[in-house]
Amino acid sequence: MKMFLEQLIFSSLLNNCLSMLILTHIMKKPVQHWADTYAEKIIREKGEKEIFTCASGVTPSGTVHIGNFREIISVDLVVRALKALGKKVRFIYSWDDYDVFRKVPANMPNPHELEQYLRKPITFTPDPLRKEASYARRNEVEMEKLLPLVGIDPEYIYQAEQYRKSLYAEGIRTALINRELIRDILNEHRSAPLPEEWWPLSVFCDNCKRDTTRILAWDGDYSLTYNCDSCDNNETVHLRHTPAVKLFWRVDWPMRWAYESVDFEPAGKDHHSEGGSFDTARRIVREVYDYAAPTTFQYDFIGIKGRGGKISSSTGEVVSLKDVLEIYQPEIVRYMFAGTRPNSEFSISFDLDVIKIYEDYDRCERIYYGTETVSEKRSAKERRIYELSQVTEPAGETPVQLPFRHLCNLLQIKGGNIEQVFQSLNLKSSGDELKRLTCRAECAWNWITGFAPDDFRFSLKEEGSAPVEVSAVERKALLLLRTEIAGRLQDHDENSLAEAIYTIAEESGLEARELFKLVYRVLIDKEKGPRLAGFLLTIGRESALKRLETY
Ligand SMILES: [Zn+2]
Repeated sequence: MKMFLEQLIFSSLLNNCLSMLILTHIMKKPVQHWADTYAEKIIREKGEKEIFTCASGVTPSGTVHIGNFREIISVDLVVRALKALGKKVRFIYSWDDYDVFRKVPANMPNPHELEQYLRKPITFTPDPLRKEASYARRNEVEMEKLLPLVGIDPEYIYQAEQYRKSLYAEGIRTALINRELIRDILNEHRSAPLPEEWWPLSVFCDNCKRDTTRILAWDGDYSLTYNCDSCDNNETVHLRHTPAVKLFWRVDWPMRWAYESVDFEPAGKDHHSEGGSFDTARRIVREVYDYAAPTTFQYDFIGIKGRGGKISSSTGEVVSLKDVLEIYQPEIVRYMFAGTRPNSEFSISFDLDVIKIYEDYDRCERIYYGTETVSEKRSAKERRIYELSQVTEPAGETPVQLPFRHLCNLLQIKGGNIEQVFQSLNLKSSGDELKRLTCRAECAWNWITGFAPDDFRFSLKEEGSAPVEVSAVERKALLLLRTEIAGRLQDHDENSLAEAIYTIAEESGLEARELFKLVYRVLIDKEKGPRLAGFLLTIGRESALKRLETY
């Protein structure tokens, strides 16, 4: 009995200790980045594997827009998280370029020429600009060139090539054998059921290349007979030798999951809806192809803010990665996506918020390098986001930071001349750092000239241009300011110069804000501008005096 009691006490003590330990562990465990959470989930669901296959893909039937990019970068972030856990990963990106050309997009040149290619595979549709081998290839090339800039380098799979080489013959035959089962699965989510004579595939007529065909017979094995409604071509094809047969999307997707052994693939809201193509693909892959659907998540839409009526010349109304890279450095593009959970909608800003995004990124960088301290929890979170935002690896040393707002002012003072701006800052950077800073300056200039609000834009008045009209009181104020600048500008910092400007206003009998307006009129021909003291220090003694001396 005594023994028993002792054991009881001991075991309850042990339990208490254990719960304490677990509790401390939970409390100390930093909040995990969502990409790391999904990497762990993939391993949990798929088991330990030699290699994990992560997939993404799109139909290149138009410009690949920034919403499509969300899928690619979501996969890239999870791929990096898997690699961080020591796993080997294959990242495949499918160009679904054997899809049919259904509609001529609104922004295409020569739309009438393109119309004759409707119902043919997009891989056969010519590039309206005659630069690339096809319309599909044109959209592919743009993306394939841009992705390495943001540190993404998947293995591309061209579905037109795969189908045309008959690589999916077995998968197509399996779909034919299970035709009724597939139809039943799809019918569960349809208000109008698929007809009895439904087939899970389409045939591009060998003669006219259109998918305007009807299946007449299947031999239960590899031979299919079809008739074309457009050109009346009648033919029997063999699945192992024909380029003409393509599975419908809802069957094509699960067939390829099994073919490539895909372990992870996210999808947009449209595919992840109840009864959407992910739902049906999950069942088809299990029941027809004997493979478990990949781990997945749903990613949300991307909004665009502050582009106003500015329409991209290359892509019409659509905002592409290229458009975003014109105003955001690659790291910051990654940062926006790495810093937001994939299931929350967010907007990419082209308005004043651009400055805030750059400032947030710079703070994240300072936290990573320990030059700004925050709570341990916040720091762990920001450090991981920073790592995932880098195109390659974080730099060994703390990078030089050029605050975006300041850079915008400097560029406007120097008329967009980046070299002069860097000289004025006495910048000693070289190599990758110089490249990054140059990229930031180019983005800043693109933003100022393309998107910054009018209030934010200015250019210094030409030296020797006609003076603005001023009253006697104003002239006195300008004279006092000139004397201050000529004699003591080098002794001032922004605060002391601001104080001096207020004193000048008082001495000359002007309201401070009247004085600000006056100086802006004299310097930049506007009534508003950047904070005056900092601005005067930035443009420097010579430049300020040259514009003040005519008064
Ligand atoms: Zn035909």
